[in-house]
Amino acid sequence: MRMYDIIEKKKRGIELSEAEIDFFVDGFTKGTIPDYQASALCMAVCLCGMTHNETAFLTNSMARSGDSLDLSCFGNLSADKHSTGGVGDKTTLVVAPVAAVLGCKVAKMSGRGLGHTGGTIDKLEAMGVNIALTSKQLINQTEKIGLAVSGQTGDLAPADKKLYALRDVTATVDSIPLIASSIMSKKLAAGAKNIVLDVKYGSGAFMKDIESARKLGDEMISIGRSCGRNVTAVLSDMDKPLGNYVGNLLEVKEAISVLDGSVRGELYEECVQLAANMAQLALNIEYDKAASAAAAAIDSGKAYEKFLEWMREQGGNVDWAENTSLIPKASVKYELICKKDGIVAHMDTEKVGLSAMLLGAGRESKESVIDFKAGLHLLAKTGDKVTQGDVLAELFCDDKQKIPASETMLQNAYEIF
Ligand code: URA
Repeated sequence: MRMYDIIEKKKRGIELSEAEIDFFVDGFTKGTIPDYQASALCMAVCLCGMTHNETAFLTNSMARSGDSLDLSCFGNLSADKHSTGGVGDKTTLVVAPVAAVLGCKVAKMSGRGLGHTGGTIDKLEAMGVNIALTSKQLINQTEKIGLAVSGQTGDLAPADKKLYALRDVTATVDSIPLIASSIMSKKLAAGAKNIVLDVKYGSGAFMKDIESARKLGDEMISIGRSCGRNVTAVLSDMDKPLGNYVGNLLEVKEAISVLDGSVRGELYEECVQLAANMAQLALNIEYDKAASAAAAAIDSGKAYEKFLEWMREQGGNVDWAENTSLIPKASVKYELICKKDGIVAHMDTEKVGLSAMLLGAGRESKESVIDFKAGLHLLAKTGDKVTQGDVLAELFCDDKQKIPASETMLQNAYEIF
């Protein structure tokens, strides 16, 4: 078999066989297929697409390329949730303890943020949580308290890791079969029997419109089900940031305010929905029953208690979790002032994420060091009526030289008519 022929075939829109896809994944992972040939194949996939069979073959091949986690000790109760990436998305911090209270076993691996998107692992690290659990620790802690969240343990789906890094620099990220196989290869290797996919759409997401998000969700559901997993997808709006805060410690604080019952609204609603979907699959119950139980887990204080237990168990700062006024604050605060009367007609969510990144809340490259205190408080969002002189947003960081670039980016994110 020759890689040249595989690229040529895909370029002509002809379906690749399982053996051809395995040949590519295996050779690329081992380094016998060079980056330029892998990039050419990815570009051909971007332009010509893949059939469901090809996408499933690619997913399975990448899932088998490294270690996998065996969660069979939890029977049908293991439940995972994956978000396709967004701005202000702190749902895992709320959803994991809620799902654990409901009886799910949440042994979860999460990722770091990059560019305009945030990552759960950064938020946990900001709280001092030990995010480097071994597989054994992840499973033992889940057995004990119902949840554990770690950075990647072992060498999970290394083919995807290598391919994603290449796609990132060759303009080949935005392809539904490539995104679906990338996400599902990691989810399959991570072992959960039940998987809830939070597929984002809008200006801050990979999928810019709801139709593409639905296609991506359907593709991932069909891959997961063909591999014997229970999978469901929730489509959620990333045309504006989720909640009112962007930035690691600011988001942790916001997540705690949902868990302790002091804040309701869109973040609360989305978290209840995601946890309910996990419980519906894992416990095999009606959605409405699962949603009522998820809301009750928060209202009763049990989910917040579970969060504190999680912090205690995994080395997080319990004092901060118990009293969020102790969470350190940035030394510089700057107000973005509204220049005219009107309505916030639209927000470019990617620009909001980039504005936070420029303050130090996110990573420009994998090597960037994060300032956990940096970020944004959005006082006005899409649909809000605003008046000249109002504070649209507060910017926080420790280095005032970072303010001008971040302010310009955020100003450009708001469309006011
Ligand atoms: N997230 C992933 O893990 N892979 C993609 O291709 C896109 C988003």
